[in-house]
This record gives sequence, C-alpha cells and structure tokens, in this order.
Amino acid sequence: MDDLKIPYLGVERPVIVIDDELLTFKYNGESFLVHRRYLEDLSTLAENWLSRQAAIYIPTRVRFLSTRVGITKYKRIRISNARSRWGSCSSKGTLSFNWRLIMAPVGVIDYVIIHELAHIVEMNHSRNFWKVVGRIMPDYADKRKWLRMYGHKLMMFNVKS
Ligand SMILES: [Zn+2]
Repeated sequence: MDDLKIPYLGVERPVIVIDDELLTFKYNGESFLVHRRYLEDLSTLAENWLSRQAAIYIPTRVRFLSTRVGITKYKRIRISNARSRWGSCSSKGTLSFNWRLIMAPVGVIDYVIIHELAHIVEMNHSRNFWKVVGRIMPDYADKRKWLRMYGHKLMMFNVKS
C-alpha cells in the first residue's frame, strides 16, 4: 500500500491517502487523493477516472490533429477497453482508442492517433503507410519504441500491483 502510483499523461503520480470526509477520490494536478475508507475501491475509482479523462482528451486531440494534418475523413471516434490493442481503424472509418493510452506520454498518444489517422489514407502497414506517418511525425520511431518497451506494462496496469 505504500508508494502507490498511477501513471497519467506519462508521469507516475503518487496516491495520497487522506481523511477529509468530503472527499472520495480526486486528482489535484500532481497527485491522486483518496479517502482512507475508499482505498479498497482504488482500482475502480482510478480506472473510472482515467477512462473519463481519456474520453475527453483523446477525441479532442484526434479532432485537433486530424484538422492539422488534413486527414478528416473518419466517421467516428470510439474509446475501447480491450487489453489487446492501443488503437484501430475500421474499414468504415471508425477510429478506436484504448482508454489506457491516457496513462502514456502525450507524444505517444499523438503517435497512436496519427497511426490510426494514417490508416484512413493507407489501410495497411506498407512502406507508403509509414511514409505518411513519418511525414506527420518525423520521430515516430521513438514513440513506437516506447510502446514496445512500456506498452505492455500500461496495458496490464492495475493500481494495486
Ligand atoms: Zn496500424
């Protein structure tokens, strides 16, 4: 129970247990605060909070990046929960993103978004696909490397482990 941490936007934020009766669970910009009584529910509280943040942050970022790179022909944005992939793009143009991405650094989140947007142009992983990605994000290889190294840990993340 000591030293609990929750990663959020690429930074491991400490969890502080407090006794303030008015509080259940909250993020104060640096740390997560949880009332002692709700410590048992910390995993659920944290997952709910993180997935709500993801449902706001990711679609906002998709809209921003898609306009900026001029790939706007997707149909809709979905936030997914399966512990299997970070993102996908269906042939019908639905972009899906795992809510757990919100735990990754912002540059890595951008990479996954750009990767899926590039699939609107190239529905495969051909050389041309990677050219599209590289034109938008020249250092994308670093982000892929980050995901290869730490992605699995985030995907399996559980506050109490
Ligand atoms: Zn892909």
